[in-house]
Amino acid sequence: MIAWTEQQQMIRGMVRDFVEKEVVPHIDDLEYNGLPPYDILRKLFKTFGMDELARANFEKQIAREEAIARGEQVEKPATPEAASGPVSEEALDAAAMGILPIIEISRHCQGLITAMGVSVGLTAGAIMSKGSLAQKKKYAGELMTLEKIGAWAITEPNSGSDAFGAMKSTARRDGKGGYILNGNKTFITNGPHADTIVFICRLDEPGVEPADRKIVSFILDSGMPGLEQSPAFKKMGIGASPTGELFLSDVHAGPERLMGESEDGYGRSGAKSTFSTERSGVAAMALGLVERSLEMSLEYARTRVQFGQPIGSYQLIQLKLAKMEVARLNLENMVFRFIETRAAGKDFSFAEGSAMKLYAAQAAMEVTTEAVQIFGGAGYMRATRVEQLMRDAKILQIYAGTDEMQIVAIARDLMGRD
Ligand SMILES: Cc1cc2nc3c(=O)[nH]c(=O)nc-3n(C[C@H](O)[C@H](O)[C@H](O)COP(=O)(O)OP(=O)(O)OC[C@H]3O[C@@H](n4cnc5c(N)ncnc54)[C@H](O)[C@@H]3O)c2cc1C
Repeated sequence: MIAWTEQQQMIRGMVRDFVEKEVVPHIDDLEYNGLPPYDILRKLFKTFGMDELARANFEKQIAREEAIARGEQVEKPATPEAASGPVSEEALDAAAMGILPIIEISRHCQGLITAMGVSVGLTAGAIMSKGSLAQKKKYAGELMTLEKIGAWAITEPNSGSDAFGAMKSTARRDGKGGYILNGNKTFITNGPHADTIVFICRLDEPGVEPADRKIVSFILDSGMPGLEQSPAFKKMGIGASPTGELFLSDVHAGPERLMGESEDGYGRSGAKSTFSTERSGVAAMALGLVERSLEMSLEYARTRVQFGQPIGSYQLIQLKLAKMEVARLNLENMVFRFIETRAAGKDFSFAEGSAMKLYAAQAAMEVTTEAVQIFGGAGYMRATRVEQLMRDAKILQIYAGTDEMQIVAIARDLMGRD
């Protein structure tokens, strides 16, 4: 894939119209006044049939798993290796449909995408990959259609980059098949509003060295006794994505809440593959931020006159614009590669996903910072919205693994180390 097709450009235009009508007028409320993002996201899903598509995909997967559980013979889904020839246009359009709203919305309000991605990609994604059939049926369908909102909680006050090593949250067996959960989680996207929470903690196993204790996960409901969800933090950027804390004090979770209904259901490797999913969407968010920065910068460079000439006639400004275009092209190519890989039913390696995340986050930060510079004092004012792009870009270098941790992940994966 080297360019958007006519069909994809048409969809893109429709999403852009939606954003102009349904997102742009509410940006101040979303960013600064605590308006939760979920109704706007639900409208997006409804307008583009994304809810129906998600429901249909969910029902298809459940029907398949039920048939397997009944011992029926079911056709294996075609593996990428078995597929021959080029990826179909239909598959490419379907994959592009998942990406275009990310790009278009990130041009104005990246926080909406973070809130949506954590609920659908991370929370529902984790349950659909590692939950039991009963858990998928109970929780995942409504998360995938955004009827319910999800949070995925691993970070703690003292465990961020070292997510597993320093983890303090615990699950203690209650002797009757259930568990007692304790711990604090912080910086949790959708934490303040989530209906469903994937809580990742350490099994309290007497006699086992703390560092060797298993990582286990639970699916919790908002309102469970002992579970408190904090109000949203005030943040530098992505105000549209509510971020908060979770406090668990002797929360009783029955065995049906243990992810996969097994202590080996969703531990380190499950969480690691969720990190991978999270990382791959960052290129599309970065592309939206970079495209918008470049468009606004070009317009300003043409029209802002200083020393009797448009500032775009000065080579120092031209260098910034040229570097922005290089970043835009690189990111667009990464997004095309992502779409083709998805359409082929394949996955990126951990190193590849991390490398894309690292480049995308750094490019977005560099380009948005230079856009503010091109705008001079006006760029520092909220009204121009350039500064919001810069603040929204910064988070890409921190969440889903910091830049530094991506570097470590790339190198370790390339060297074949865990
Ligand atoms: C807006 C927002 C939303 C978030 N959403 C979620 C969520 O939904 N769920 C969730 O579980 N978490 C979430 N997080 C947490 C996020 O993943 C962590 O903030 C991130 O992983 C970094 O952890 P930390 O903040 O503890 O920083 P630290 O790990 O304390 O890092 C501090 C600095 O030290 C560097 N550093 C650490 N270790 C090394 C090393 N070995 N080598 C070199 N440098 C190192 C880091 O790169 C960083 O620069 C979110 C965070 C934010 C800000």
